[in-house]
Amino acid sequence: MRHYSKSAVEDYRALDVRRLARSNVLQPGHYCLWTWWRDGEKVASINVKAEAHAIRLTYSANGTPQAYSVRLERTPCHYGGNRVWFICPAVGCHRRVAKLYGGTIFACRHCHQLNYASQQCSQRDRGINNSWRLRRKLGCDWGWLDMPAEYVPRPKGRHQTAHARDIARLARYDAQAEASFAAVTSRAGAMLARLP
Ligand SMILES: [Zn+2]
Repeated sequence: MRHYSKSAVEDYRALDVRRLARSNVLQPGHYCLWTWWRDGEKVASINVKAEAHAIRLTYSANGTPQAYSVRLERTPCHYGGNRVWFICPAVGCHRRVAKLYGGTIFACRHCHQLNYASQQCSQRDRGINNSWRLRRKLGCDWGWLDMPAEYVPRPKGRHQTAHARDIARLARYDAQAEASFAAVTSRAGAMLARLP
């Protein structure tokens, strides 16, 4: 059975695997038009069709039709359930990531060379600095672009309630970091547009 629904995400074109999961877009057979909005205006949309272990993306980029699959991978959590990831579809990459960024194709930030943009905002952004500090305290070597807050495992011996509090705080820092990153990446839009 096919489902059809509309989803809205704000601002710039990023696909967040957790957001898709929460919107039930990853259920095999689900089909939706995923739409990006800015100031109440539709900026872009793509068709997303969920298969068993992948999603198929169909859209047009600068008049050129695009259609390809992005593999999904699930990793078990220590405390039950699992986490879902994208496998970056760029040729030769295959990194496991939570977010893909749209240019002509959706790819991870490494492929889009967004490191520079994230370094630019890290100079002055408190959210990013706070996020890194808390992640180090939690024993997490991964940055906010690569490991979503709720994916950060609980350190051994840390009480569950205390950890949940840390994660809630980390999610707030990450959101601040994300906001300044979005500002920088939208300025770097020209760079995204000419990627593979
Ligand atoms: Zn990649």
